[in-house]
Amino acid sequence: MTTSPAFAPSGLAARLLDVIENDILPLTEKGVAAGNKVFGAAILRKSDLSLVLAETNNETENPLWHGEVHTLKRFYEMGERPDTKDLVFLSTHEPCSMCLSAITWAGFDNFYYFFSHEDSRDAFSIPHDLKILKEVFKLEPGQYARKNAYWVSDAIAALIADAPDRERLQARAEAIRARYAALSDSYQSSKGDNDIPLN
Ligand SMILES: [Zn+2]
Repeated sequence: MTTSPAFAPSGLAARLLDVIENDILPLTEKGVAAGNKVFGAAILRKSDLSLVLAETNNETENPLWHGEVHTLKRFYEMGERPDTKDLVFLSTHEPCSMCLSAITWAGFDNFYYFFSHEDSRDAFSIPHDLKILKEVFKLEPGQYARKNAYWVSDAIAALIADAPDRERLQARAEAIRARYAALSDSYQSSKGDNDIPLN
């Protein structure tokens, strides 16, 4: 863990799970009820892992408002904001190619995600992340650089695997997965009604 040296993997993982449960999921529950996808994001301070802001997907307003880009839009609407070099970016789902670029252009040196691209395809019936990487960039799954000159990314599952209290964290992660499964069912059953281009 290079970006938040004050926090051991278990402390960071526990805090990221807190933010997903308490800050992102309540927004996503409202967003999905309004016809949006299940993806959300948040920005935290590296210094104490306090929340700067959380947001959720808002593609019914604009198909570019993925959870991550919508969070960045809100961040740049803030009057006073910290330097992105001092912040942690959290994405509930491994970012798509647009969001990977947006996080890069905004100057973050890290991001963490809960679900993988394969989860989005298999558990959420949203295959677009992997399909765009293949069709536009000719990349097979997992072939983008998860560590590069701009940032280091990590799966929260990897932090949990390294944590001494991994069993407790895994149980919390399972509870979060169950909440997302219910939201995904709700989105999939209503998506025929939205006009999101890649729904
Ligand atoms: Zn995206």
